[in-house]
Amino acid sequence: MAKGILVFAEVKDGKVKNVAFEMLSAGRKIAGQTGDELAAVLIGKGVAGLAGSLAEYGADKIYVAEDDKLAQYTTDAYSKVLADLIKETDPATVLFGCTVLGRDLAAKTAQKVKAGLLSDCIAMEIEGGNLVFTRPVYSGKALLKAGIPESSPAMATIRPNVLTAEPGAGKGEVVNYAVKLDAGDLRQVIKDVILQISSRPELTEANVIVSGGRGMKGPEGFKVLEDLADVLGGAVGASRAAVDAGWIGQNLQVGQTGKVVSPTLYFACGISGAIQHMAGMSSSKCIVAINKDEEAAIFRVADYGIVGDLFEVVPILTEEIKKV
Ligand code: FAD
Repeated sequence: MAKGILVFAEVKDGKVKNVAFEMLSAGRKIAGQTGDELAAVLIGKGVAGLAGSLAEYGADKIYVAEDDKLAQYTTDAYSKVLADLIKETDPATVLFGCTVLGRDLAAKTAQKVKAGLLSDCIAMEIEGGNLVFTRPVYSGKALLKAGIPESSPAMATIRPNVLTAEPGAGKGEVVNYAVKLDAGDLRQVIKDVILQISSRPELTEANVIVSGGRGMKGPEGFKVLEDLADVLGGAVGASRAAVDAGWIGQNLQVGQTGKVVSPTLYFACGISGAIQHMAGMSSSKCIVAINKDEEAAIFRVADYGIVGDLFEVVPILTEEIKKV
């Protein structure tokens, strides 16, 4: 019978993404109640050295699937490795971070092992003996609690930053997993991989996000937001209006058709608060809205609202924060 929790530990730039530690910490609590094993899996090339960090966040077992052919992420190869591992080890639950890669991999792996998948979850707990996930629905207007009792395993993607990463020693047994890939599982990257080097944190993992919308007036307007983001060690985001206007890259779009973020602090500057934008940021822990229209919908979800011209307000905020 299927048993235990398996966490996919995504690696980026030689580091495990924080969302894996968050899932392990939550998984540890559940495993503590059910007596199940908490395992993690690392896939890639040169990732074995990261196993220790997963043990520090509670992993009892860490499967390491290493192969030169896995140096770069491809959906087919990674999902093949993961599907094989799931078939062999039969976990009851498999968790992925709700990142671009995690969403892609979870969907393909679920299809390969014929499992049910709940996406974009923000909490998980045991209720009535069953593992129940919470996820926002209707663009964040309501929360749905759901489980997948008929599925073995049950799979879910978990939004980064919504669970708390807490160190908790696991047994940390490392198991080298023999990768079985044939030519059909491999795709080659025939164009260059475009790396966007930024000193700022990745949007979905940032603790602070300073976002701008149509009110930024143009690409140069974002400079005031970058200054504020930099003093706070945060990331810059944008509404779709700013992205569609070509003022900022699509990879920084927040919302229903962009990225879903849950930072500790979210600044919405010159953003009206359309439902599609709020779908991507309403689970932020503290929202500060700066808008010159006091009727703007964003003020309805904001914890702090500043009615004013962002080009006056934001530089003042930046200067004041520098003094702290
Ligand atoms: P606007 O709605 O034009 O608001 C601009 C705001 O700036 C106004 O409130 C104005 O008062 C304020 N402002 C102007 N100048 C200043 C100033 N100097 N100082 C302070 N405030 C100022 N949108 C997203 O963001 N993300 C998505 O993922 C997304 N997905 C979508 C998917 C679909 C299927 C559809 C139909 C739409 C989607 N949209 C998305 C678009 C969404 O409906 C809105 O059009 C968009 O969010 C509006 O962006 P905005 O708030 O920047 O612009």
